[in-house]
Amino acid sequence: MNTKKHALVTGGSRGIGSAIIRELLGLHYEVWYLSRTKNEELDNESLHHIPCDIADREEVERTLKAIIEEASEIDLLVNNAGITRDGLIMRMKDEAWDDVLAVNLSSVFLTCRAVSRIMARQRSGAIVNISSVVGIMGNGGQTNYAASKAGIIGFSKALARELAARNVRVNVVAPGFIDTSMTETLAEEAKELIKTQIPLGRMGMASEVAKAVAFLASEDASYITGAVLPVDGGMAI
Ligand code: NDP
Repeated sequence: MNTKKHALVTGGSRGIGSAIIRELLGLHYEVWYLSRTKNEELDNESLHHIPCDIADREEVERTLKAIIEEASEIDLLVNNAGITRDGLIMRMKDEAWDDVLAVNLSSVFLTCRAVSRIMARQRSGAIVNISSVVGIMGNGGQTNYAASKAGIIGFSKALARELAARNVRVNVVAPGFIDTSMTETLAEEAKELIKTQIPLGRMGMASEVAKAVAFLASEDASYITGAVLPVDGGMAI
């Protein structure tokens, strides 16, 4: 009998999502991940790539329905897909606002709505949503991103209260400054300046975020719900 736990991860093609998948595969999960491109680093018989634009509501709903039918049980949902479209508010285009809210926040609503139905029926499950220190502290030039990431925190706390009676836990990981393609385009000077604001004095690694996700997903965190766990080297203290 296949006793593997089933996980659904959004945006697993690279960066933090890729590290989360690696961690979950190591913990013997069967993993389905949604992203527009395939993860070329990871090849595993327990890993399934489902091409999907998470900003496309109909595509997301159709895709989730198919995965839920195939997997029949979902033990873990990790909402990791995210983008930035930075700019000062006075010059921010409508598309920059709409795209960031669609990818970073509305996708979380869509996946959680679909998956909470099955988790409530199972009377078990864990959801981990990836926010950001920017959702806690704010950051000039990122009003759209900060709104989406703060939105994830409020949404997750409300959902944690809704689903607690069904033994479904909902938590948030708030990474700080992590070395991925999202941050590699920053100028060296900007990176050095940010590092001065991090008590631990360095960027984080995607694997360090993945460990926190795996913890919140695990039975070790069985009494933790509605929490926001910063993985940020102390940046948001
Ligand atoms: P990357 O840019 O490296 O990866 C982003 C992931 O999101 C990719 O797998 C990408 O897949 C997916 N994605 C983006 N747009 C879509 C879309 N329309 N449909 C489906 N998937 C999409 O970013 P990180 O790994 O750095 O970030 C992961 C998460 O962590 C994000 O939510 C980010 O906001 C958050 N975070 C990152 C921090 C950092 O310092 N790096 C700090 C704090 C939070 P594809 O392009 O193949 O579709």
